Amino acid sequence: MPAIGTLEDSQGRIVRDLRISVTDRCNLRCIYCMPHEGMPWLPREDLLTYEEIARLARIALGLGIAGIRLTGGEPTTRADLHVLVRMLRALHPGFDLSLTTNGLKLAGTADSLRAAGLDRVNVSLDTLDRERFQRIARRDRLADALAGLAAAKHAGLHPIKVNTVVMRGFNEDEVVPLARWARAEGFQLRFIEWMPLDFQRSWSRDRLVPADEILSRLGAELPIEPVPDADPGSPAALWRYRDGGGQVGVVSSVTRPFCERCDRIRLTADGQVRTCLFAHGEHDVRGPLRHGATDDEIVGLLRTAVWRKEPGHRIADPSFEPPERGMSAIGG
Ligand code: SAM
Repeated sequence: MPAIGTLEDSQGRIVRDLRISVTDRCNLRCIYCMPHEGMPWLPREDLLTYEEIARLARIALGLGIAGIRLTGGEPTTRADLHVLVRMLRALHPGFDLSLTTNGLKLAGTADSLRAAGLDRVNVSLDTLDRERFQRIARRDRLADALAGLAAAKHAGLHPIKVNTVVMRGFNEDEVVPLARWARAEGFQLRFIEWMPLDFQRSWSRDRLVPADEILSRLGAELPIEPVPDADPGSPAALWRYRDGGGQVGVVSSVTRPFCERCDRIRLTADGQVRTCLFAHGEHDVRGPLRHGATDDEIVGLLRTAVWRKEPGHRIADPSFEPPERGMSAIGG
C-alpha cells in the first residue's frame, strides 16, 4: 500500500471522487428507494457535524480527491447546507463541488448555494407527469422539482444533469419525451438502471429496464452516437445526438458494470467510509474523529480503506446479497 501520494487501491485504481452524504432523511419516498413509512432513521447525534465533514474533506483533498459531491437522503433537508458549501469551498478554490438533489428546495436555495461556492447540480426527476410523479415519489411535488430546476438554471449551476431511474411499468415509455424535454431545456439527461439498493428489498430483474433497451428506445426516435472522448471516470456511458442537440448518458450499473473504472468512495452521514455502493463492510471515521485522531491517523485510515476497495460488485452472482443500508442511507 503506498504511504504517500494519491489514494490508490490494490487494483491500481486511483480514487478521485468523494461523495459525502449529509443526511439520510428525505422529503420524497420514491418507490425504488424507500418504503412509504417506517424508515429507520440514523440517530441525529451520529451525524457528522459540518466541521467534522470539512476536516475530512480537507484531508481527502490533500490526497488527490478532485471532486466532492454532496448527497443524501435529500441534502437540502439538512439545515444551512450553504454553510457547509462555504466551508468546503474555502478549503480550495479549484475542485469540482456538486450536489445531487431532488430539486424540491432549490427554488429557495439555489442562489445561496451558488454564492457559497457550489459549482453544479444533478437533479433527480423520473417523470414529467404530475400523477406519475405522485405514484413514483409518493408526494405531489412535480411543480416544486421543476421550479427547482429553473432556479438552478437561473443561478448558473451548470452543467445541470438530470438523473432518471427507469422502471418497467412506471416510466419506461417516457425515455423519449424526457430526452426531448431535457434537450430543449439544455439539461444533460442520465438514465439510471434500477439497482438492488432499496430499503424494502423489492428490487427485481423484471422491473429493471436495461441500458440496451433505453438506448434502442432513444435511438429509434433521436439518432445518437457514442461520445468518442468521454471522461473514462464517468459512471455514465455518454452518447450525443447526431443533430448536435447535446448529450445523453446511461448508467448501466447492473447490466454493464463499470467497476474497473470506479474512482469513487463514499462517506455516509454517520461517518462511515464505503468503498463500493454494494459493500457489506464499512470503515468507521466518526469514532477516530471524535476521539482525537490526528490528521496522519485519518490519512492512514483512508489509505487502508481505499487499498481494500472491492474489485467489483457481484449483482450478477447468484449468491449476491444487497447491502444492509439502502441507497438513501449510503448516499447516492
Ligand atoms: N435525494 C437526492 C436525489 O434525489 O438526487 C440525492 C440522494 S438519491 C439516493 C441519489 C440518486 O439515487 C437519485 O438520482 C435517485 O433516483 C437514485 N436512486 C435511489 N435509489 C436507487 C436505486 N435503488 N437504484 C438506482 N438509483 C437509485
